[in-house]
Amino acid sequence: MAHIVIMGAGVGGLPCAYEMREALGKEHQITIINNRDHFQFTPSNPWVAVGWRDQKSISVPLSPVLKKKNIGFIEDTVTSIEADDNQLTLAGGDKVAYDYLVIATGPRLAFEEVEGSGPDGHTTSICTTEHALEAYEEYKKLLENPGPIVIGAMPFASCFGPAYEFAFILDCALRKAGVRNKYPMTFVTSEPYIGHLGLGGVGDSKGMLESDLRNHDIKFITNAKTTKVEAGKLFADELDLNGDVKKQHEVEFTYAMMLPAFKGVDAVANVEGLCNPRGFVMIDEYQRNPKYQNIFSAGVCVAIPPVEATPVPTGAPKTGYMIETMATAIVHNIAHELKGEKPETCGTWNAICLADMGDTGAAFVALPQIPPRNVTWFKKGKWVHQAKIGFEKYFIRKMKKGNTDPLYERFILKALGITKLEKQKTGTNG
Ligand SMILES: Cc1cc2nc3c(=O)[nH]c(=O)nc-3n(C[C@H](O)[C@H](O)[C@H](O)COP(=O)(O)OP(=O)(O)OC[C@H]3O[C@@H](n4cnc5c(N)ncnc54)[C@H](O)[C@@H]3O)c2cc1C
Repeated sequence: MAHIVIMGAGVGGLPCAYEMREALGKEHQITIINNRDHFQFTPSNPWVAVGWRDQKSISVPLSPVLKKKNIGFIEDTVTSIEADDNQLTLAGGDKVAYDYLVIATGPRLAFEEVEGSGPDGHTTSICTTEHALEAYEEYKKLLENPGPIVIGAMPFASCFGPAYEFAFILDCALRKAGVRNKYPMTFVTSEPYIGHLGLGGVGDSKGMLESDLRNHDIKFITNAKTTKVEAGKLFADELDLNGDVKKQHEVEFTYAMMLPAFKGVDAVANVEGLCNPRGFVMIDEYQRNPKYQNIFSAGVCVAIPPVEATPVPTGAPKTGYMIETMATAIVHNIAHELKGEKPETCGTWNAICLADMGDTGAAFVALPQIPPRNVTWFKKGKWVHQAKIGFEKYFIRKMKKGNTDPLYERFILKALGITKLEKQKTGTNG
């Protein structure tokens, strides 16, 4: 009998636990450890921040669903991993032994890298639902006291889509309220150009998103290295292609939402030989750490090299479907190991993304997510807004039911040429 422990019940960890339970015999024990008592659907956070969703509607209480599936649940924070002893220490003092560990802890939000940024400073965040709820309180104050808005992403951010989504959602909310004319908006991003997305662009993302920002009266500053935030003022150096300062900006704001740099969470980052210098778990093509071969990892916490060097550092995003492919590959590989076989399954890291823009949206497909790609397209339309709402309901339902890979989903995606697994890694950095 083996004990498989999964750290983190997010978009990567929770589907992984469900699939693991389906794939492994009852004799194997599965435990998930999460520092919240619920799953939160992070992609809905931009809607929470303008009051279009509340916390309950995008959360799933973990205890009942995991109990039904015969998966152990511990609500606690892992404070350290004793990888040589196959053991974890929890904040409550307990020790948990494992045979296999799956790390799916998401990012640590490194606001400390830019002085004055973050919910403890002068900018809001939508990275967690708790942050998005705080951002909503600030939004309500903004409605009472109109003024300029800054939205964007700081150096070392690796998740740019939500910054664009939030800019367009806020624009839409203010337009619907008939007060958009009172709110000058500026998009400040570490990307080298609009629509880069940490991916070197996807299809015509540059042209389309630039055009949308212009059509929505949102000014933008690219190659922006945000250096400091003070109350009501954001300082950013705009760099040229050589990385020299081209222009220094002081952007005034009444409301600001800036995505921070992502790093690995401390318990993971502190393990000698497990992570890269920014605390992301190093993995081979089987999602397995090269040094600790019984540790696997999926999600935002894995190390992926940037797609290309950019004047201001940017990271490659790890998007939802790509993360699901990682989780499924891990399940297959641990199942192989338990049968005494070698791991042989790789996630395709295909990306399908729906970005909401309030009343319309943009969708992209990148197969695989990291270029060069076999398939790339980026399209806009009102249908994307509806599709994103549909996807939200569908994914949350899947998490409530514990059925992560229904046949019809597999069938539809296969018909579109989108698969989760492959035997040998192609076209990615894995
Ligand atoms: C605002 C936002 C919107 C996004 N929208 C989209 C989208 O529309 N489409 C898309 O494809 N991708 C989107 N993404 C990217 C990605 O899909 C999400 O970030 C996704 O939630 C990442 O999944 P994860 O499992 O890696 O991390 P998370 O979902 O963050 O889960 C990590 C879990 O680990 C727990 N945890 C962390 N540390 C510990 C510890 N030490 N001990 C115990 N538990 C711990 C956390 O509490 C959390 O529950 C978005 C990201 C953000 C930030």
